[in-house]
Amino acid sequence: MALTQIAPEPARPPRRLSVLGATGSIGCSTLDLVGRSRGALQVEALTAHRNVTELAAKARGCGAALAVIADASLYRELKRELDGSGVAVAAGQSGLEEAALRPAEVVLAGIVGAAGLAPTMAAARRGATVALANKECLVCAGDLLLEEVKRGGGTLLPVDSEHSAIFQVFDFEQPEAVERIILTCSGGPFRNLPEDAMRQVSPAQARAHPTWEMGAKISVDSATLMNKGLELIEAYHLFPVEERQIDIVIHPQSVVHSMVEYVDGSMLAQLGTPDMRTPIAYALAWPRRMAAPGARLDLVKVGQLTFEAPDHARFPALGLARDALRQGGAAPIVLNAANEIAVHAFLAGRIGFLQIARVVEQALTDRPLSPPHQLDDVLAIDAAGRAAARAAIDRL
Ligand code: NAD
Ligand code: MG
Repeated sequence: MALTQIAPEPARPPRRLSVLGATGSIGCSTLDLVGRSRGALQVEALTAHRNVTELAAKARGCGAALAVIADASLYRELKRELDGSGVAVAAGQSGLEEAALRPAEVVLAGIVGAAGLAPTMAAARRGATVALANKECLVCAGDLLLEEVKRGGGTLLPVDSEHSAIFQVFDFEQPEAVERIILTCSGGPFRNLPEDAMRQVSPAQARAHPTWEMGAKISVDSATLMNKGLELIEAYHLFPVEERQIDIVIHPQSVVHSMVEYVDGSMLAQLGTPDMRTPIAYALAWPRRMAAPGARLDLVKVGQLTFEAPDHARFPALGLARDALRQGGAAPIVLNAANEIAVHAFLAGRIGFLQIARVVEQALTDRPLSPPHQLDDVLAIDAAGRAAARAAIDRL
């Protein structure tokens, strides 16, 4: 469009948004953007797992129509907290689905783990725009979720910073011109730690990510590099590329959020400071852009951007995830389920850091399971993967 054709923007109606996992790191960043949007974003429903007080405060604060607590035993408590506020209250699995089904244009899927799968599928089914942070959904049920999105006539937008970066520079008009996508990875807190020392690390050390501030589970995943393994599978589902076209490079500054390489040798990247409000804002405003408050990138101050190959020996999770993707069927579901159990056990002090990948590996070799055809199959395989991981932990 020629510059002279640009006319003043007509006012846009506010965009309604539901946030699944509103009390988490992604949920809080999302509500921060809502607060700054001067009414352009309005909240329909919020959900949380167990934190009644925080959920109620957030629901009151942003004038949500519905607040849902996933732990059904806390229903009365939430009801009491929101008494007289005008916010409707629901609980349990049906409550989570109700939140997803409310008529909000955008559903931000910010629950951690496979627990977010059913409500995210419900949002896709009704044709919502799903802004997906909950990468475990794509790992467990990539094909099924994409089918639901297609059938529902909605849109799936990545929130994960790497996938947001790729989405912003991927030429969907000519996917055959893409040679490779390259996911960047900070390397986590143990990038340079010798294997012997890695054996001893505490949950607190694993949770202290060098560049991003995130929830406990994804922080541990970032320390084992399982997060990058899950992101590899996520990228495979989100973009029209083969597994062999997805590479991973360690980039400790977390400034280049990922790259797409084209057949002519051009490599396109998206850069920014590590602040999740930038990719969240991109998904919330898509196909437009909205202001986000993250610190601006000062390349002179950063000075150097460095890149290195990942160390597969110290970080076996990467290889496990790639194998699971190649294998397909039930394998990625078992990988994810076993990892959730293993991370939980590590955070609870029951297993050591290096045993996380061992547990996942053992669960994957347990016994082959038939591939899923529907959501119930995914949930059954997920349960079997969890059981296999628990058994592997007991054996350790
Ligand atoms: P978090 O632990 O901070 O928050 C998780 C949210 O999910 C909370 O609101 C919690 O109440 C809810 N929740 C947890 N278990 C639940 C259950 N069983 N049922 C219903 N709700 C439940 O996690 P986070 O860091 O915000 O991450 C959320 C998702 O986004 C994860 O899938 C993560 O991989 C992805 N992600 C996060 C970041 C980040 O910067 N935090 C970046 C990229 C992707
Ligand atoms: Mg990421």
